[in-house]
Amino acid sequence: MAEHNEGWIKTTCAYCGVGCGIEARPKHSGELEIRGDKEHPSNYGKLCTKGIALGETVIHDGRLLSPTLKTSHGNKKLSWEAATTMVAEKFTQTIQEYGSDSVAFYVSGQLLTEDYYVANKLIKGFMGTANIDSNSRLCMASSVVGHKRAFGSDTVPVCYEDIEQAEMVVIVGSNLAWCHPVLFQRLRAAKQENPSLKIVVIDPRKTDTCEIANTHLPIESGSDVALFNGLLSHLIELDELDHEFISSHTDHFDETIKAALAQQDIEEITGLTSQQLIQFYSDFSSSDKVVTIYSQGVNQSSSGSDKVNSILNCHLATGKIGKVGCGPFSVTGQPNAMGGREIGALANTLTAHMEFDNPEHLQLVSDYWQTDTLATKPGLKAIDMFDAIDSGKIKAVWIMATNPMVSLPNSDKIRSALEKCPLVVVSDCIADTETSRLADVVLPAQGWSEKSGTVTNSERRISRQRRILPSPGEAKPDWWIISQVAQKMGFRQAFDYIHEGEIFAEYAKLTTLGNDNFERDLNLIGLTQLDDKGYSQLKPQQWPVTELQDKVINQRLLSNGLFYTPNKRARFVPVSYQAALAKTDDTHPLILNSGRVRDHWHTMSRTGLSPKLAEHTCEPFVQLHADTATKYHILDGQLAKVSNQQGEALVRAKVTSDIAPSQLFMPIHWNETTSKNSKPCTLIANTTDKLSGQPEFKHSAVAISAFTTVSCAVFISNGTVALDNIDYWARQKVAGGYLYRIESTLPVSELATILKEHLKVDGQRLISAESHNGKAQWLVLDNKKTTQLLSVQKGFEEEEITTLIELYVQSDEPANASNIIQTLASDSHSLTPA
Ligand code: SF4
Repeated sequence: MAEHNEGWIKTTCAYCGVGCGIEARPKHSGELEIRGDKEHPSNYGKLCTKGIALGETVIHDGRLLSPTLKTSHGNKKLSWEAATTMVAEKFTQTIQEYGSDSVAFYVSGQLLTEDYYVANKLIKGFMGTANIDSNSRLCMASSVVGHKRAFGSDTVPVCYEDIEQAEMVVIVGSNLAWCHPVLFQRLRAAKQENPSLKIVVIDPRKTDTCEIANTHLPIESGSDVALFNGLLSHLIELDELDHEFISSHTDHFDETIKAALAQQDIEEITGLTSQQLIQFYSDFSSSDKVVTIYSQGVNQSSSGSDKVNSILNCHLATGKIGKVGCGPFSVTGQPNAMGGREIGALANTLTAHMEFDNPEHLQLVSDYWQTDTLATKPGLKAIDMFDAIDSGKIKAVWIMATNPMVSLPNSDKIRSALEKCPLVVVSDCIADTETSRLADVVLPAQGWSEKSGTVTNSERRISRQRRILPSPGEAKPDWWIISQVAQKMGFRQAFDYIHEGEIFAEYAKLTTLGNDNFERDLNLIGLTQLDDKGYSQLKPQQWPVTELQDKVINQRLLSNGLFYTPNKRARFVPVSYQAALAKTDDTHPLILNSGRVRDHWHTMSRTGLSPKLAEHTCEPFVQLHADTATKYHILDGQLAKVSNQQGEALVRAKVTSDIAPSQLFMPIHWNETTSKNSKPCTLIANTTDKLSGQPEFKHSAVAISAFTTVSCAVFISNGTVALDNIDYWARQKVAGGYLYRIESTLPVSELATILKEHLKVDGQRLISAESHNGKAQWLVLDNKKTTQLLSVQKGFEEEEITTLIELYVQSDEPANASNIIQTLASDSHSLTPA
């Protein structure tokens, strides 16, 4: 079988929405050999750094191994039987006492479609509430609203090959080079092949994506609607419209023109010159084939839905949609964000692109699931859900495969909500997350390479994730855990699954109900007859799937000019620029943007296990312009405090000219388990787009100041260390252990005294070296191997830290232990076995 050739098993990457095909093979060490799948149409064998390093991340460090009840008196391991019975009883009691809307599920784009399907079926179908929302709410909810408003359905019309066949690719609010690297590589290759391909990057920051761009338009944060309304006005004024398409296939053009033409002060709002604007507008209108790729810079905004529609309006007005090399393209962040949208794991959709406001859909789903308790109205979206937990309206929440304490805005409020909630269940593969620290019950889930099911990528292609390694401890598939709870709640028949393939078949059939003529875009009729073998060997399938796809096909949607609105016509949506909600003032004069770095993923629970990935960006940071640094007396490499009325964060200053003086940028990945206090979400308000409920992650008003320290330490340990009483620390994975970069306002001697307490010397040997110039260093030796290394001094050069890491990693002989001391404290006056 192709998917098991020479021990190589075909699967799909754990990270971004490009959905690259991977081949993996177990190694004796317990890690995996990884290579790109040359047959997979997302990547044709290519992988980015994160994908390549997946093999290093399957180690069992930090895994949650058994169901556990957490109480103030300590933790108690439970059997699966006891844990699922307890969770079932508590949800049942809560519903009986307070009604269906007193419970909620908060789920994740990391779940497989089969997991998502079972969770959605349980809560909407049988628990009688639509209080289920996915963390995808934070990534692309505004695109869903934009698509539904314009197309009548959450339809992504393009294929990846469209970016290779376009004459112009516009990239808006996306650092594609870092966030969707293989798609970026495809675009770069297309540009090399066809140098006349124009690439325009629209982003307040100059990012690595600009490397291949003809033009970078550094727009003011949040001004996209003004920019695209300007484009629509330009198209109207120069009569560069597709009149035939507009009249035959669309509605509401006149109102939309009016709104676009009313847009004033575009130069001032966008911060772009008239020359930059005219050049962009002319390029768009003169290119027959344009793809506009957009991502979080568009979606994560209080006007995200309008931003999306301002882009869609321009494609509809020029008919640049549903054709080869054309279309608006929302690229998804998570590996299965699309799967969640498809099965309906968002509070405001029913399932399988069916909607609550359609009585026929409600009937179809009730009948299919054989339930009379189907939720009939939308539930609470993520921010509202946590507000309802905080206010006591929701009394039981199950959080699956996500870490809202790190990823939702206003972390203090999320903490307060979860602390108050009578029942917090967390199912995750990682034991210690900020969220699991607040759980009453934790349930161990399988991780990537252990679980089996399907995911859908940004171009609607469904691929298999396959089981390659056994799970540690008692970890189970998410669908199994949910099904066990469902059965114990009394819904045995509806959740009597024994294999994920059964769940997929049930879901595939659901997509066909009342959909004989493809009235809905999502239709998997070609997959409804899959047997176990067919599911096991399933090749990537791009939906809609009319018949099983043995070969790679690329199909665009909306090509026939028919949309999914009641009258089959697309809808223009009149939009006007609205300034972002957060306003700067004298106290908080800067705008904080947030996003990803190249080699980390979300809260780092997986990428944080790879020494290679950790090397690219070792610490949390704030990017700031040189003028801003001068103004606030901050040196490059110094610690800086970023703060506002909501909270503060301590991060390393990176001075650059790639960002405007009015802006700062912080990565989203570090959190309380990997650094002292470096989360941007502490500073981000829970203001949202009123239609999509998507939070405004890219625009918070903050202040910045230098944070002066007088001592530093590097601590490398073969296990994690709790450093609560230190001003600043950040953790980095290195081979054989974890490295902590530490800074303090205390003198070297006092910091050394505190840190020495963390050395674990029971039964091991301690060697110390102290020097005249204020350096203090210790090694803990377990027989021949260094297990801990601590060096405290006034400051470190990066090369010194690199040397320390190298010495720690290689220290498998007693002689090397002395080398470490001698290398780092060459002027030490003592080398003392303690
Ligand atoms: Fe994985 Fe995305 Fe990289 Fe592909 S581009 S290997 S899906 S992280």
